[in-house]
Amino acid sequence: MPSSKILKNYVAGRFVDTENYFDDISPIDGSLVALVSEADDKLVDEAVSAAKEALNGEWGLMSVDARAAKLHEVADEIAARFDDFVAAEIADTGKAYAQVKNIDIPRGAANFRFFADLVLEQSEASFEMETLDGRGATNKIVNKPMGVVSVISPWNLPLLLMTWKVAPALAAGNAVIVKPSEETPSTATLLAEVMDSVGMPKGVFNLVHGFGPGSAGEFMVAHPNVDAITFTGESKTGTAIMKNAADKLKPVSFELGGKNAAIIFADADFEKAVAGTIRSAFSNCGQVCLCSERVYVERPIFDKFVAALKESAENIKIGRPEEGADMGPLISRRHREKVLSYFSLAIEEGATLVTGGSTPDFGDDRDNGAFIKPTIWTGLNDDARCVNEEIFGPVCHVFPFDQEDEVVNRANESDYGLAAAIWTTDMEKAERIARQMEVGICWVNDWFLRDLRTPFGGVKLSGIGREGGIHSLEFYSEPLTICLKH
Ligand code: NAD
Repeated sequence: MPSSKILKNYVAGRFVDTENYFDDISPIDGSLVALVSEADDKLVDEAVSAAKEALNGEWGLMSVDARAAKLHEVADEIAARFDDFVAAEIADTGKAYAQVKNIDIPRGAANFRFFADLVLEQSEASFEMETLDGRGATNKIVNKPMGVVSVISPWNLPLLLMTWKVAPALAAGNAVIVKPSEETPSTATLLAEVMDSVGMPKGVFNLVHGFGPGSAGEFMVAHPNVDAITFTGESKTGTAIMKNAADKLKPVSFELGGKNAAIIFADADFEKAVAGTIRSAFSNCGQVCLCSERVYVERPIFDKFVAALKESAENIKIGRPEEGADMGPLISRRHREKVLSYFSLAIEEGATLVTGGSTPDFGDDRDNGAFIKPTIWTGLNDDARCVNEEIFGPVCHVFPFDQEDEVVNRANESDYGLAAAIWTTDMEKAERIARQMEVGICWVNDWFLRDLRTPFGGVKLSGIGREGGIHSLEFYSEPLTICLKH
């Protein structure tokens, strides 16, 4: 048995070890955070059986009120262990302390409260109909859970994005098999401890660790007794999952990649547009699916805007979270290699490097981490790979534009369609353009401002379906029509 910290799977209400372990590595300095027990197909099978049993047992019989109360207990327990969650998320991701403290962990707890309250407000429709014999009939539409739901999540907002799926799935009465990214297994393991300590009936929440192909991810998609799959991650992983789910026609909910545009008009509040674009390009080291990697600036303010972006980007403090850094590292050395390959490609494609384009040199153990400089380019053509492929790092390309129609067409000329940001003081123009954007969410004069009741998701390669509020509950529920003849 290894002597390092071990992260176990949680199946049927028990923490379970397996024979294989993989390393959870800190992107801050390359040190070992923990050894993670990799679930094999047998353990995934046990998790699915436990989930089925839960649905046929106490959990399946529990009233909606009791279920909602349980989810509030989960939120309370996350809040009680707030510091543990913050430390775990930072150890895995190295992201800025303020981001974890103000967004990742509070939102993780809030997701449980939000969906617990929402499910109590969900009403079931009923229709009276006339019949030829004059006696009539009543049609009731009853929401049933889908059953066993596989939840597969990415590493960029680990607890937040996982609970964004687990909370509505449980609120709707399902049982879940959850797999966090292999890069960020820690907060999911703490969530399993929380589920255990609040006495969630066994089998309702199962956690398996591992990778995608040939590992837990693939097993939990292919398993014949899994009823639905909810996934957030790369578009090409979505394709692989969809193929694997196709034989059994399993319903899928997909939140995938983005190559999002920001459009800045000359009449925008300049300072706010610069600050907003810095946030939308570089938050979480550019590792937010909503980040703006394509920035279009109206020509009269183009040079001034690029100069202001450069100055602000160069003032971003990169480093360790506990040193009060604004920006942490990328998630891993492997991901940094990918982002750096785009840095080289951009130059080959003819980009002008405005700032960044390389890794920082700290002269200490952070050089073993995955830090990278915020990077801005200009001068690429619309068909360059660097302005069409998702890079998922702290990088944006800035284009000038002249006409409203032109910028709408160029912004929409993308395989992706997740989000857009428009900066202007002309609200009529803003709404006119927003309505034409081929995306799931469009911000005007802000970015990443979320009302959890609104639908969230993307079009084209950016996803299938919507999450948020009632849209989540609809995915995790199966409506049953009962026709009662009088
Ligand atoms: P990823 O697709 O590499 O991995 C996501 C998860 O899928 C991981 O848990 C991984 O182990 C698992 N996985 C990989 N291959 C699999 C397979 N064949 N079968 C089953 N599971 C498999 O994504 P990532 O690198 O962790 O995350 C970054 C990506 O996520 C970016 O493309 C980003 O845009 C996207 N993302 C989208 C949203 C959104 O809401 N649209 C939010 C966050 C991140």
